[in-house]
Amino acid sequence: MSKVKITRSLLLTALLVVSVLAMACPRLVVEEPPAEEKIGVIVSILPLADFVENIGGERVAVTVMVPPGADPHTFAPTPGQLLEVSKAKIFIKVGAGLKFEMVWMDKIIEQNREMLVVDSSHGIELMEMVAHDHHEEQEHKDEQHHEGKDHEEEHHDHYGMDPHIWFSPRNVMMMVQNIRDGLIKIDPEQADFYIENTERYLQELDALDRYIRERLDGFLNRYFLVYHPAFGYFARDYNLTQLAIEHEGKEPTPKVIMDVIDLAAEYNLSYVFVSPQYPVRHAEVIARAINGQTALMDELPRYFILSMRSMTDSLAREMME
Ligand SMILES: [Zn+2]
Repeated sequence: MSKVKITRSLLLTALLVVSVLAMACPRLVVEEPPAEEKIGVIVSILPLADFVENIGGERVAVTVMVPPGADPHTFAPTPGQLLEVSKAKIFIKVGAGLKFEMVWMDKIIEQNREMLVVDSSHGIELMEMVAHDHHEEQEHKDEQHHEGKDHEEEHHDHYGMDPHIWFSPRNVMMMVQNIRDGLIKIDPEQADFYIENTERYLQELDALDRYIRERLDGFLNRYFLVYHPAFGYFARDYNLTQLAIEHEGKEPTPKVIMDVIDLAAEYNLSYVFVSPQYPVRHAEVIARAINGQTALMDELPRYFILSMRSMTDSLAREMME
């Protein structure tokens, strides 16, 4: 049989299979709308883009405001981005007091009052931003004055609510349900499609939560050192203590760097976790001083589950040492 004939019959078979599938379970095959008919969704940060694509699939076209490498606390949108907003149907924000949104949301909404704004933090219990106040801690240690939990509580400095809600798979489960409800509001005919995708993604998040719990189970030394304190919810969920170099958004002074080196040595840490949005030079100085190394823990992962798994593996390596 000639090559042409073989290709033709293969094509015919494939078409046959698709049409049988379409008839058997019409929901499985959702027509991919042409680009101009896709739902224009704007999100503040990269992880939200991943959540929206997991729920909206090929029905959504997602634009991210804070680009890769930019700091979500200080970023300012460009005029081109504000123009983009005027065409969107829905804006998904983190909520939870993320500074970029606090500063710019009113201006963004002004561009498009028809647009549905979804606060993905709706229903999530926020926690205070906790930073381990190293230098005071050090002075206290010198005075040999250790009194268990009260001592710990004493040296945590609280400054406002922690906006990094996406670093808890349990929080993300609520964020994706808020996103699902928003998509259904503007595209009710496809409600089943969004509900099914959400169910599937919730199971993946549940599996992630189990993976992290099991992978970090049993380690005694549950401290980890980061440059920017974005992992408070992660530390809460998995019973860890986040030590941070940056404090209240300020770069560390030489004194703070010395204190952090002492703490890292005391807790026998060998990794300093850095994020591409922030300077790495201080972290590198500290890593060298403790004969350790810097490792990546991205504050704004584009592929959430993948990134959380590799972050967990890095932490397990740290705690094993
Ligand atoms: Zn942050």
